Amino acid sequence: MEILRFVSELRCWSRSIRSVPGNIVGIVPTMGALHAGHASLIRAARSRCSHVAVSLFVNPTQFGPNEDYARYPRSFDADCALAAAEGADVLFAPAVEEIYPSGPDSTFVEVPGLIHRLDGASRPGHFRGVTTIVTKLLLAAEPDFAFFGQKDAAQVAVIRRLVADLFLDVEIVVCPIVRDADGLALSSRNAYLSPAERAQALTLSRTVRHVESLFAQGERRSEVLLAAARRIFAVEPAIRIDYIALVDWSTLEPVEIVAPGTLIALAAWVGTTRLIDNTILSRVVCSSPLRASDPAASI
Ligand code: AMP
Repeated sequence: MEILRFVSELRCWSRSIRSVPGNIVGIVPTMGALHAGHASLIRAARSRCSHVAVSLFVNPTQFGPNEDYARYPRSFDADCALAAAEGADVLFAPAVEEIYPSGPDSTFVEVPGLIHRLDGASRPGHFRGVTTIVTKLLLAAEPDFAFFGQKDAAQVAVIRRLVADLFLDVEIVVCPIVRDADGLALSSRNAYLSPAERAQALTLSRTVRHVESLFAQGERRSEVLLAAARRIFAVEPAIRIDYIALVDWSTLEPVEIVAPGTLIALAAWVGTTRLIDNTILSRVVCSSPLRASDPAASI
């Protein structure tokens, strides 16, 4: 696996690969501290693309001034080993100055309609940072496919809108959430949790599952489902809800009556760590969600 540091190298690599008929380039954007969730994205990319680039960039512009940019977990050597083991052809790991050559005056990209919803409401500027870095990566890598996790469901909605609005010539592939055996969605930020907090953090996946089962039993009223979700959090006062919402996945607008395809999304503070979880409500409750240990934990 080759490690690339410069946009010009990534573009040159992609163009030379894509100049060969039949070759297909996929990109998996990440902020590093790779885990089995990221691995599932790389495997999904491998299964669809002849060549795979993984990007590793802790993007400063998607962190607020009081957020965890400085202490975000960084594990470059382990990340290289994981990406190589999963079959990535290149790892793109640029410096901040390479991505933002004009510093704070750099051009940004914004999706105004969705920017203040869900995570955008509690993390002002977050989605602007996300859409800016994703646009830059897509312009630099010119991939056929780009792979994202449903774990960040609101991010997926914003990126789909970005790609549609700017006519970006790439297909967005969304991969299922990979969870630990007890249900906790894998996240680089789980590393911040103490053992007690990790136990409390299970409230998120428990809530998602509870709403999913009420939906499967026929409940369709958002206010009833949201009240049931809040009751689960009420017995775990150490956790502070940021949001719990039932929304249309493409507009992120709240729905009053839930339909198959509605997203239940939540974010909560466990101590000083903010975690998110979600699921797409469907008629059938999935009895065996993806586990980190499952070799088939890819799309
Ligand atoms: P991050 O490094 O946190 O920015 O995540 C990079 C990509 O991995 C994003 O598309 C995330 O949605 C995805 N991802 C993170 N955690 C998981 C997970 N547990 N399961 C599947 N995808 C994930």
